[in-house]
Order: sequence, then structure tokens, then C-alpha cells
Amino acid sequence: MTSAPTLVLDGRFARELPELALPWQAAETPEPRVLALNEPLASELGLDPGWLRGDGVGLLTGTRLPEGATPVAQAYAGHQFGGYSPRLGDGRALLLGELVDDSGQLRDLHLKGSGRTPFSRGGDGLAAVGPMLREYVVSEAMHALGIPTTRSLAVVATGRPVQRETVLPGAVLARVASSHLRVGTFQYARATDDLDLLRRLADHAIARHHPAAAEAEHPHLALFESVVAAQAALVARWMLVGFVHGVMNTDNMTISGETIDYGPCAFMDAFDPATVYSSIDTGGRYAFGNQPVVAEWNLARLAEAILPLLADDQDAAVAVAVESLGAFRDLYSSAWSAGMRTKLGLADDVDRAEAPSLVGDLVGLLQADHVDHTSFFRALGAAARGDAEPARGMFLDLAGFDAWTARWLALSPDADAMDRTNPVYVPRNHLVEEALDAATDGDLAPLTRLLEAVSAPYDERPGLERHAEPAPDSFGAYTTFC
Ligand code: AMP
Ligand code: MG
Ligand code: MG
Repeated sequence: MTSAPTLVLDGRFARELPELALPWQAAETPEPRVLALNEPLASELGLDPGWLRGDGVGLLTGTRLPEGATPVAQAYAGHQFGGYSPRLGDGRALLLGELVDDSGQLRDLHLKGSGRTPFSRGGDGLAAVGPMLREYVVSEAMHALGIPTTRSLAVVATGRPVQRETVLPGAVLARVASSHLRVGTFQYARATDDLDLLRRLADHAIARHHPAAAEAEHPHLALFESVVAAQAALVARWMLVGFVHGVMNTDNMTISGETIDYGPCAFMDAFDPATVYSSIDTGGRYAFGNQPVVAEWNLARLAEAILPLLADDQDAAVAVAVESLGAFRDLYSSAWSAGMRTKLGLADDVDRAEAPSLVGDLVGLLQADHVDHTSFFRALGAAARGDAEPARGMFLDLAGFDAWTARWLALSPDADAMDRTNPVYVPRNHLVEEALDAATDGDLAPLTRLLEAVSAPYDERPGLERHAEPAPDSFGAYTTFC
């Protein structure tokens, strides 16, 4: 059945924060064709997948919206690789409006690649099929791993060519998020010197993401503390699965604690904190191992932005901000350590004195031998069941591995718990490239297969053996371009 829904797209962001919302229209799409549609997510949003594939495709491209919808380009600023840009904003994106999902939550429906806006600067406002499908695959993999993230509803090929190094087919991504408020949104509001706007933005963020803060003695400080906690938890989750975001600029960090903006991101294969994939990150600022420090740095920029809300007196405001930000390191470390204990199948009450040195020694062994992160942790589940050979075979330092394993096995790891936390399937770089190349050439089969694997990452299934393997050596060093 394909029926047009009685769809209501609210405009709460634009209504409450008009200074940050520029009404704008999506570019026409000459020949729209749905390449990927997330049917379970569509249903969560009350959208009929059959309708979206047919008459409703204009919702996914922003070209045919329900009555009363007011799409906007959102304003934000941001530190990009440490340098401040006062005016970034949606240069190739639009917020179509908010929907209420089947659990009563407000969700943004947002487009990427929908044409030029007043924030486009020199850009063309467009996106190519490959990068939009990359965001679709990786964000859905993150969701299936249980990591907070924006979601991907659809990728629609536009029929319009996009000029990059070569001419590529164009696409629009329809993205869903609990909001698109960023650290950079606060930086933009602060730079206007309009204290009322900054206060409305903070209150909007509290209402949408951190409602408990409203009950606190100091709601805006409680908001900051909630964002610190959400980001500490989020980045710990990234580190535990080997995710490299690639471009952790302040405009790419949410207030909700969801992962956002999948550009030059990748899952680390060989374990190494220095891992960088992005072609533009020449200094390694956003290397795998730097992500917690960068998150803390970004949160300091958020603190600066909301300083006038924290206390009347600047010195007092700085003092409370510093104290609240000080919680980040402990929150991050406890989340990461607890996650590592879970990855190793160790119960919460395992000898706390032993766990940190066990984890630290393991990290040293993995790094020294460039062991494949995802395969190793999954193989360790088998080791807990008595078959250590698959994991052992990944090491050169066999004596080191054996000594470590003996110490670990003495703590009685729970193999089933390990299999629920150590994925078999992540979107491995070589498989992502293969799928995007094929899709760009019109063959969607490898993409469909990859999505099938990463959508149930913990359940090992026959027929997906290739998807559980590291890249062949012939794949070589990997670089992502955004
Ligand atoms: P990102 O690196 O994706 O976080 O984007 C940083 C800024 O560049 C944002 O303001 C984007 O809207 C803008 N931007 C990126 N690509 C384009 C494009 N093709 N056309 C216009 N603006 C763009
Ligand atoms: Mg961005
Ligand atoms: Mg991007």
C-alpha cells in the first residue's frame, strides 16, 4: 500500500530561534531515484516506505513538502582544525522540520546535498552518491552497534552531475537526528552578542535533550555538565569499537551526544592510536588516539560560548566552567574502562586492581603487532571458550600473548557477554569502498550485502565470511576524502 501520510513537519527550531534559521528551498532534482531507503526508520517516523519510493520521493529531496513546512538553512560557526570560522552554517543542507516519532520523540528531518544556500560560500551545495552512501552505511552501522548517532533515512540519486576531481552522480541524503544543535551553534549565537538569543538556544537545548537540567539549581550549568557527560560517554564508545570520526571540528559535535557528520570517517583496522585516514588531517589532529582530548577541547569552546549564562561575573563563570569541564576525564576514563572490561568478558566485580594493568598490557601488545582491532576482540570470545588459536595467530609476540591470556583466563571471562559487545561486522574500509564504487557505477548489490552485515553486527551468519575479514594486503594504505 502506498498512501500519502497526513504528514506534519513542525518548525520548532525556526520558530524559537529565528536568528539561526534562514528560510530556504531545496534545489529541483531532474531525475530522482531512490538508492537506499531505511524502511524500519521510515516506519518509526510514521512514513509509508511504499509512498516514499513513489509519490513521496519529493519529501526525501525536499522538493515536495507538506503544506506549512518551512525548510531552513541553520546558522553555525565552528573551529575547523583549531581555526575559528565565524560563519559556516548549512552550505549544502536544509532542516525540513521536525517529526514526532512513534515513541513521542521530536526528530529533525534534514537533507544534505540539497543545493546552494546563503551559507555555501564557494561550494556548489551538492553531494555525490558515494559520500552520501558512506554516511548511510556508517551511521546505520553505528546505530546497530548501539552508539548514539544521527540516522539515515534515504539516499536519492538526483540525476544531476556533480563536479569533483571527476564528474560524479549527485545525491541527496535524508538524515534524521534528535536535533542538529552543535557546539558551533552556540559559538555562532555567542558571537552575535545577543544574550537573549544565547539563553533561548540553551533553553531549547535543555528542553530537547537534557530536560533534567531544567530542574537543577543552575539549569545552564547543568546543561553544560550534561553535554560533557554525553560526549564523554559517546567518545568512549567510539574508542571501544575503533571508530575514527576524522573531522571533529566544533561544528561537527552535537549537543545531544549523537555522532554527527560522517565525512572522512573510518573504522580502524590495525590497532594504532596514531591512525588517521582523512586526506586533509595532515597533522594528525583527529587521529584515533587523540579523540578524547579533542572532545575535551571542543567542550572548552562550548564553555566559552555559554560563559555569560553561567554567572554574572566573568571570573566566577570561568571558575564553574573549569570545574564542570574537569569531570570529563573521569567520566571518559570510567566509561572506557568499564567498556574494556565488558569487551574482555570480565564481570563488574572482577579484581579491580588487576583489570587496568591487564587492559594496559593488552593495548601494548595489540599496538606492537598491528593486530586487527575488530577481529581480535571477536576472536577473544573463542579464546574464552577454550580455543585461543584464532586470536593467537594474530600476534608475532606469541610469548607475550600467551602470558597475557593466562592472566586473563584466570579471571573467568564470560564468552557470551563478549559476543554481545564485540562485533563480527563493522563497515570495513575496503568493503565500503567496494560498495560505493559499485553503487556509483549503478550496481547496488555490494552495498545491500554490506548493509545486511553491519545491521546485525553481533550475529555471525553464513555467507558473510568476507565481511568479517580484514582487508587483503593488496588493499594497501587507506585514505578518505570528504
Ligand atoms: P563539513 O566539513 O562537512 O563539516 O562542512 C563544513 C562546512 O562546509 C559547512 O558549513 C558545510 O555546509 C560546508 N560545505 C561542505 N561541503 C559543501 C558544498 N559542497 N557546498 C557548500 N558548502 C559546503
Ligand atoms: Mg559539518
Ligand atoms: Mg561533511
